[in-house]
Amino acid sequence: MFIHSHSLRYLFFIGVFLLPLNMCITSCRTFPLLDLTGKDDGQVIALQPFTGYDTTGMYLLQTAIGQFYNRKVVVLAPIKLQPSWFVPVTEAYCADSIIASLSKLRKGKMVEVIGLTSSIIFTEKHYKEKPYFDNRIIGLGYQPGTACIISDYRIHSFYADITRQRLRRAVIHEVGHNMGLPHCHNEECVMNVKNLGDDYCKECRKQLGITIDNYEY
Ligand SMILES: [Zn+2]
Ligand SMILES: [Zn+2]
Repeated sequence: MFIHSHSLRYLFFIGVFLLPLNMCITSCRTFPLLDLTGKDDGQVIALQPFTGYDTTGMYLLQTAIGQFYNRKVVVLAPIKLQPSWFVPVTEAYCADSIIASLSKLRKGKMVEVIGLTSSIIFTEKHYKEKPYFDNRIIGLGYQPGTACIISDYRIHSFYADITRQRLRRAVIHEVGHNMGLPHCHNEECVMNVKNLGDDYCKECRKQLGITIDNYEY
């Protein structure tokens, strides 16, 4: 009995001391981001569909994203959303948990993992400093980051080409956040909150370090 409680205390101390170290290792580690400043150096973008996502038009999205970034895009085999990511009160899956999991899939030259789901996703937001769960989001990507998640639940249209256009815009928007871009005031820019643009505006391109010369689409 004594040994048991002693070892528990020991574990507790290890936990307390290791936690800050772990947090530092996680936050201090710098991962390469998708970099558009130069010529294609073999960086790979991955599309990761989750089970239930309609992959019929996947190759079209793969081609569109590949052409836009002038980078290789691979499609990974579908994986399941973890039941633990579902939060009943929100009736949605936690986008932050999904991103954390997607980030771990990166390896080698794969610098960006784009998750695709048809399920509703949510993230925690703040209104007048009060937190609330927003389950009306289309996508989420950290700024900067290495993975993002898009749900087509709220952008689905009867017309497949409209859904695809919205999807493409959402992907380019979240990947823009991952590359470090904030929201843009220019309503024609894909980084505007309205997300009605098809491309990064001149100012956003400047922030990404890309010029018209080395970045054609
Ligand atoms: Zn955004
Ligand atoms: Zn912009």
